[in-house]
Amino acid sequence: MDFSAVLNNIHKQIQPLLGQGKVADYIPALAEVDKKQFGMAITLNTGECYGIGDYQHPFSVQSISKVFSFTLALRAYRQALYTRVGREPSGDPFNSLVQLEYEQGIPRNPFINAGAIVVCDSLISHFRDHKYNAQKETLHFIRECSNDDTINFDNNVFTSEMQHGYLNIALANLMKSFGNLNNDVDEVITTYFQQCSVVMNCQQLSRAMLYLAYHGRDPITGREFISGSQAKRINSLMLTCGHYDASGDFAFSVGIPGKSGVGGGIVAVIPGKMAIAVYSPALNKNGNSLAGTKALELFTTMTGLSIF
Ligand code: GLU
Repeated sequence: MDFSAVLNNIHKQIQPLLGQGKVADYIPALAEVDKKQFGMAITLNTGECYGIGDYQHPFSVQSISKVFSFTLALRAYRQALYTRVGREPSGDPFNSLVQLEYEQGIPRNPFINAGAIVVCDSLISHFRDHKYNAQKETLHFIRECSNDDTINFDNNVFTSEMQHGYLNIALANLMKSFGNLNNDVDEVITTYFQQCSVVMNCQQLSRAMLYLAYHGRDPITGREFISGSQAKRINSLMLTCGHYDASGDFAFSVGIPGKSGVGGGIVAVIPGKMAIAVYSPALNKNGNSLAGTKALELFTTMTGLSIF
């Protein structure tokens, strides 16, 4: 298949959408980006990468980091993790407090903020027991998946979110009061905001997600990050919970597992074939990249590559 032609075609078709939507300004540092940017990259199991537009432009991965931290926590705790975080779609916005209160501090899934905060808490305990630091190990893992040691945190975004992260701090306090956090709220929130601040581009992200397209094993280096069965679970959760309260809509229109972030990125996986990343910072009303979602829909429609 001529992937360069497909990407060129998508790039043309999404032009009228660029600039529509709103950048995430509740984290002030994210509001500074040019909202008309658009980039898309796919990486195949041979390592071949096809990209278009701003596909090498670095951006804040935000909630896409939840895929990496959940992978690490699942590897460490296996089934036991599900006593603290569920695996059902929430049908609620990513930072909703209401559901968390009536479900007694157990978040619906690891891809909403509350769930990712519990995952961070579990990683702090796990790595401390092994004399490691959760923040460093999460970054190290992201670098391993991408096979790229240059990836780093963005201190400006981290500080900005620390200063304005009232809702996430409220979520963490609520879960602490229900006994679902074992570490200090400050430490957990710091770890969570650090992981959200990681900066990557589409090329790096599509490379990093390949292990999920190949049963947990990086097809290029041969390294096994998780078991095939765990990779299946992560993909399933990306399909059902990867886009907050628009997860059903994404599954309906795109038809592959994916995870979005409020920085404007979306990653997606086509099992046995490739991983894809798209970036466009203006978001739709559910907090997912507006042009990015459309680009992925066009991709699966034009290529016929979806899981269905
Ligand atoms: N750091 C963001 C927050 O917690 C992540 C949200 C997202 O990317 O969807 O609010």
